[in-house]
Amino acid sequence: MDVVTIGESMAVFSPDSSPLMRYAATYSRKYGGAESNVAIGLTRLGHNVGWISKVGNDELGKGLLSFIRGEGVDVSRVKVDAYAPTGLYFKEVRNANDVRVQYYRSGSAASQMNVSDIDESYIVKAKYLHITGITPALSESCYETVMKMIAIAKENDVKVVFDPNLRKKLWSEERAREVLLEIASKSDIVLPGVAEGEFMFGDNDPEALGKLFINHGASLVIIKIGAKGAYYFTNEESELVAGFPVEQVIDPVGAGDGFAAGVLSGLLDELPLDKVVERGNAIGAMATQIPGDFEGLPSRDELNHFLYSSDSEDI
Ligand code: ATP
Repeated sequence: MDVVTIGESMAVFSPDSSPLMRYAATYSRKYGGAESNVAIGLTRLGHNVGWISKVGNDELGKGLLSFIRGEGVDVSRVKVDAYAPTGLYFKEVRNANDVRVQYYRSGSAASQMNVSDIDESYIVKAKYLHITGITPALSESCYETVMKMIAIAKENDVKVVFDPNLRKKLWSEERAREVLLEIASKSDIVLPGVAEGEFMFGDNDPEALGKLFINHGASLVIIKIGAKGAYYFTNEESELVAGFPVEQVIDPVGAGDGFAAGVLSGLLDELPLDKVVERGNAIGAMATQIPGDFEGLPSRDELNHFLYSSDSEDI
C-alpha cells in the first residue's frame, strides 16, 4: 500500500434546474469527500491507496462504496454502521468564487468511527498516512481514532501527511485551532492554505508561516496560495513554485484535494521537491476545469499531456 487515508464520504446533491437550492426542484447525485477524492486522484495516477471509513446500512452507503471501489481504491477496511445513516451534503455553485455547502452529516455513520475500527497491520504497511482536519471534527471518537492512527504511523516509520482542510461549520474555532495545531505538531508534511496557516498561527505571510510550521514539528511544509501556486519549506530550503494559469475556473472545489494527490504522487515517485509541488499545482489547476469534486482529477496520461504538451488531442 502506498497511502492510507481516513475520512467521511457523502452523497453530494447539486441543484439542476436552478443553481440555488431554494428554487431547484431536481438535483444530480454524486459522491464525494476530501479524503476519498485524494484516494481517487492517487489511484488514477497508478498508486495503491486504502480508504478507511464507515457508511450507513442504506442505499446511498452501498452506492458510495461501489463507486469508490470502482475507482480502484481499496475499501476492505470500510465498515457498515447498522444504525447511523450515510451523510449527505448539498452544493450550490453560485459562481466560481461563491460555492456554498449545506451538510446533513451530524450523527452520520462515519462520525461513529472509533479506535476499534483501526487495523494496525493495515496502516503499518503504508508509506504515507494522509490525514485531514475534517475527520477529527466529526466527533470525539473520530478525533481519538485519528490520533491513534498517527501514533501507529509514527511508531512504524509511516510518514504522516496532514492537510488542515479547515471546516468552520463542523466545530468551534477554539477546538479547531487546538486540534489542527496538535496534529500539525505530529506530522511530517503539512499542506495548509495561507488562510488556514493564518487561522492556526495568526500570521498570513507565507515565509513566516513556513518557519512557524517547521518550528512546530514538520520537516516539509507546502503552503498553497491559490492560482499563484505554492511555496515549499524545509529546514534547508524554500521556493515558490508557480501555478498553472487557467482561463476560467469552472468549479474550485477539489483543487486542494487534487493538489494533495499530486504532492503525494510526486513524493511516492521520489521527484525533487520543486517537481513534487509542480505536480500538485498541475492537478489543482486541472481540478478547477471540470465541474465536480473529483471528476477533473487526471490519469497519468492526462497529467503528462497537461504538463508537457500544448497541442489539442488529434481528432
Ligand atoms: P479546496 O477548496 O479544494 O479545499 P484549497 O483552499 O485547499 O482548496 P487552493 O489554494 O484553492 O486550495 O488550491 C490548491 C492548489 O490548486 C493551488 O495551490 C494551485 O496550485 C491550484 N489552483 C487552485 N486554484 C487555481 C486557479 N484558479 N488557477 C490555477 N491553479 C489553481
